[in-house]
Amino acid sequence: MSIFENLQMLIFGIKYTENVIPGFAATTKGPFIKMLPIYKYDAGLLEHEKVHVRQWYALLAIGVLISTLLTLLVSLSFLPLYGLSLFLHQSLYKFIRPYRRWCEVQAYRKQIAVGGYISNDFAVTTLVEKYDLNLSADEAQALLFD
Ligand SMILES: [Zn+2]
Repeated sequence: MSIFENLQMLIFGIKYTENVIPGFAATTKGPFIKMLPIYKYDAGLLEHEKVHVRQWYALLAIGVLISTLLTLLVSLSFLPLYGLSLFLHQSLYKFIRPYRRWCEVQAYRKQIAVGGYISNDFAVTTLVEKYDLNLSADEAQALLFD
């Protein structure tokens, strides 16, 4: 069981709306999930997005810890770092490809485990095409199923 799954007290919000990024079934920002209404009963997709919420909480915790250490041990001028902790996950996700790849692989592995889909090919295709991960189909397959 990973550190993220140990965060059982997961607090998140979910909103079913047509207003998600075109081409995606759902998007998550911090603890807030937005999902197209037609996926309301897709348990795998919800678990996928909850993995991203856990990632956000974990990075928030790391950011708060680092902020506390720097503020207490170095200088009060590090106080603004607390606010930046809220954006740690999404910043790393946006700019650091290996982190984004790790985040999505964790999320798709969970989605596949829970989803009960007839085929899991969509996960390979989506990883290859949608996240600018620079992965081949074989590499995506290996990351998801090996
Ligand atoms: Zn995802």
